[in-house]
Amino acid sequence: MRGQIVKSLSGFFYVRPDTNHTLFSCRARGKFKADGIVPVVGDYVSFTELDRENGVIEEILPRKNAFIRPAVANIDCFVFIASDSLPVTDPFLIDRVSVIAEKNGCSFILCINKSDLPHEERLYSIYRNVGFRVIVTSAMTGDGLPELKEAIHGKVGVFTGNSGIGKSSILNRLFPEAAAETAEISLKLNRGKHTTRAVQSYDIGNETVIIDTPGFSSFDVGMVESIEPDELDGLFADFSPYTGKCRFSDCHHLNEPGCAVLDAVQRGEIAPSRHESYTKLYELLKKNKNSY
Ligand code: GDP
Ligand code: ZN
Repeated sequence: MRGQIVKSLSGFFYVRPDTNHTLFSCRARGKFKADGIVPVVGDYVSFTELDRENGVIEEILPRKNAFIRPAVANIDCFVFIASDSLPVTDPFLIDRVSVIAEKNGCSFILCINKSDLPHEERLYSIYRNVGFRVIVTSAMTGDGLPELKEAIHGKVGVFTGNSGIGKSSILNRLFPEAAAETAEISLKLNRGKHTTRAVQSYDIGNETVIIDTPGFSSFDVGMVESIEPDELDGLFADFSPYTGKCRFSDCHHLNEPGCAVLDAVQRGEIAPSRHESYTKLYELLKKNKNSY
């Protein structure tokens, strides 16, 4: 049988078969461990049934992409939930994840949540024109949620963001059955207390799958290591009108004279925080590269 892993916990993989919605709890063949391969949420697998609820994963089908923390695969789209109210989101986190998404061929959607609370339009003014979709939402009033639903239609999307930002609230509004599905898995696991901390995916219908991940700290620098310092500017879409126009063709856009990117920052055409994030990431990547 074939299916997709919807949750992985303590060596068990919960697989939703293509043909029906009854979850199978599966072990992986020992050979995976020997080969250093770990099945992750989002993986398409073939598996053998042991009985009506249990199985063994035989094979992981080719992945479109894969991430380490959180461990997920075959992602079309990252949905980053942020907020200008408490907790206020650090733009550097947004920039870091958007670069990782772009590098791995995923689209990136920024949700600025809690729009019903008093706030400054800080994030909106930075991100309204940087090349990815921005949706202002409120899990409280429902504002923006139809737009979000439409934007992820037919995709496998990962929800991420600091804890307390409203991920579960949005998920529950978009997909009220999520709680029931979590309960079904908890029942099979027979130890509900760990379930909220694991990566878990929800099939919300119309071929849309949402993968919920635990707190943001799980996204660390390891994820950007595969990026070359010199390709970083290409992952900042708002820099692209300027990158070919610097005085030096090998300009890194840090502090070189005649840098068209820096000029654009000066003129207010690129948000200063975007350039700060770029500089931080560039230095991080350079340092990692030199340490090999
Ligand atoms: P998570 O940790 O990201 O899953 O965040 P939760 O969904 O648990 O939300 C954290 C807190 O923020 C809860 O008290 C929610 O009721 C509240 N909250 C979430 N979204 C909104 C929103 O859009 N507006 C307001 N006012 N509160 C929200
Ligand atoms: Zn430059």
